[in-house]
Amino acid sequence: MVIPHHYWYVITSTNSKERKRITARWDLKFRRRLRAWEELEAVRLMDKLNSNTPCLTEKADALVWKASSNGLFNTAAVYNKLTSGQVLPATELIWKNVSPPKVKFFCWLVWKGRIKSRAYLQSLGLMDQNTRSDCVFCNEELESLNHVMLLCPVVWQVWSNLLKWWGMQWVSPQSVVGLLDWWRGIKWRKVEGIIWKVIPLATLWSVWKMRNECVFNGKQPLMVELLELIKTRVILWFKAESRDSFYSVQELVLNLQHVRQILC
Ligand SMILES: [Zn+2]
Repeated sequence: MVIPHHYWYVITSTNSKERKRITARWDLKFRRRLRAWEELEAVRLMDKLNSNTPCLTEKADALVWKASSNGLFNTAAVYNKLTSGQVLPATELIWKNVSPPKVKFFCWLVWKGRIKSRAYLQSLGLMDQNTRSDCVFCNEELESLNHVMLLCPVVWQVWSNLLKWWGMQWVSPQSVVGLLDWWRGIKWRKVEGIIWKVIPLATLWSVWKMRNECVFNGKQPLMVELLELIKTRVILWFKAESRDSFYSVQELVLNLQHVRQILC
């Protein structure tokens, strides 16, 4: 089978005036005629491919040098970065945030790697040999901090859906510290920026609360419910700060990309 060169992609502009949606279908080319049973398999494959929103766009991947404002590498930016002192971007994201204080404190502990994941307790010798050490969401990997908060396929879906809610696609960083650093590095206009900064804190907090519900109360992980809960928390915490917001929580949750254009 030849790997397809053409795939469907979706471009969604955050600007409502320019909003456009392009859809296409996978174009699979085979080197020989398919046998009857293979055709059935091909149909099954197409159904599967078309049932998911592809995560690729026509935009090529590119490296961006975050130390320069234009994203291009230059030695002056390296020098400035090295000599600019003790800037800790992730902590600035955490503490200069409209999330509740207990959430900020929790996320600071996450950033420091102090959350009592099963891997952490195991490393301290505090876990019974018979106690489960796998992730409660996927039941496949050791529950480390980076896994349960970010890299677990189930949790990764939540992050990806939140970025889609914002109108972005992403490639996940490999650690929570990298995630917070990346998040801090993206600039938005004032009001947008306030909401943007709440998202990672609300997500880390909500994922950990859901994890505890599953571990200690035997709750089944409901990721759709979790996603809605995170969106609602983000908007509630934002609105608590911006009391003059004209829009309801529901309107902001359902139409965030559209409202962002008007708010800013
Ligand atoms: Zn997992």
